[in-house]
Amino acid sequence: MTAYQTFLTHIAELSDILNAISILKWDARTQMPPGGAETRGYQLATLTRVAQEHFVSDQTARLLDAAERELAGADPDSYPVRAVQQTRQYFDIIRRIPLDLVSDKAALEPVSEGVWAAAKQNNDFASFAPYLQKQLDLAKRQADAVGYQDHPFDALVFEYEPSMNAAKLRTLFNALKAGLLPLLGKIVANDKPLERDLWQHDYPVDKQKIFALEVAQQFGYDLNRGRLDIAPHPFEISFTRQDVRITTRYNAKYLPMALYGTLHETGHALYEQGVDPELTRTPLTIDFLGKYPVGGTSYGAHESQSRLWENQIGRSREFWEVHFQRLREIFPEQMAGATPDLLYRSVNRVRPSLIRVEADEVTYNLHIMLRVEIELGLLEGSIQVKDLPEVWNAKMQEYLGVTPPNDSKGVLQDIHWSGGGFGSFPGYTVGNVMSAQFLAAAQRDTPGLDAALASGNYQPLLGWLTENIYRHGRAIRRVNCSCAAPGTI
Ligand code: ZN
Repeated sequence: MTAYQTFLTHIAELSDILNAISILKWDARTQMPPGGAETRGYQLATLTRVAQEHFVSDQTARLLDAAERELAGADPDSYPVRAVQQTRQYFDIIRRIPLDLVSDKAALEPVSEGVWAAAKQNNDFASFAPYLQKQLDLAKRQADAVGYQDHPFDALVFEYEPSMNAAKLRTLFNALKAGLLPLLGKIVANDKPLERDLWQHDYPVDKQKIFALEVAQQFGYDLNRGRLDIAPHPFEISFTRQDVRITTRYNAKYLPMALYGTLHETGHALYEQGVDPELTRTPLTIDFLGKYPVGGTSYGAHESQSRLWENQIGRSREFWEVHFQRLREIFPEQMAGATPDLLYRSVNRVRPSLIRVEADEVTYNLHIMLRVEIELGLLEGSIQVKDLPEVWNAKMQEYLGVTPPNDSKGVLQDIHWSGGGFGSFPGYTVGNVMSAQFLAAAQRDTPGLDAALASGNYQPLLGWLTENIYRHGRAIRRVNCSCAAPGTI
């Protein structure tokens, strides 16, 4: 066996442990009764520690050294060279994070998420605040352990967007804000009610699921390697390309919630299912930091795919020209007298609103900016946890002109902070920007793509995305690292 193959065998075991951890997390979010949270926390903490010890071991160091020596001079763009380079970078960073911090984080996650879910349901921020404080303290400890040059956020955002940092984000946000705020003002000033509100009817949930899954399969989601479940906060999670699961949530009247939730997660799933089988159980499909979704190069890259399929495709006029007929077959009474054009306009209404995941494409990035600015303030110490509801509401008023009636629809709406996900929000905005760029590139490279999409043939688009993005897993070329890590990946 070559040194590289021995190295791969060692990393494959780590992949198995990380995937087992992910299955426990999927179960915690979809099936587990609330009473299981505490003992699930112990299980996750133990397994996470096992994974961490496996990875930062002297054995990894030896095998990595040997693989690097063996591959010296090999094609820098080949998968083996990229796999070893990426492992090296994460190895050097993760070795800085104390093991007790890793298991403390893993143990806190399900407990904190459980408290958050109850707090959101009961509109009780005060009960969640101490857990948020704990998560914030752990995040600060991690930032200090990893190291950073300018801002603690830089050490945390690295987990999600390896080439991003606070300064670059401020530049991106300022550019977006300069365009979006005046645009939003114009749209609001000219808003006219639709001639008919389609979301007054009841849409039985089982039928909503049939329609959403049919579309997901037409996009290319393979149910032999996937399944759809219900979760209060939809997500996609994969345990290798062979088992890629998605979740959604239902509102009996507001059909777009489950439909676009499903199409969004389908976009993530297509990325994971499209990874080259050769990369399974290798460093190029592992998130060494135990986050998910795991197969993409970054959260933003992953999010670009969920947004491309959900928004660029699923909210297009062509989409409804193709799929309206089937929707009317499933919901004949609710859709009586409706048209593809009405559907198109109904799912694209731009209105400042309270909830990020239901926001339209114009206001969405404003929701993200608000969250990132708050994270920066929390990490710097200029914002205190206890003041969050007030700070949140003030920023909502400033950016969107609306004030949440309660914290459930305000600061408590997202799961991310309860799971310690500081640094994850920028990925959504980065993904929005990238989704438009990727579709434009696919159109440039693929003659007849628009005609195919207009006829409901998604294979040419899926093929371009698979060839250029999905199949490469996490393999990326040299990217500048914004944290204090040595070198580049
Ligand atoms: Zn997403």
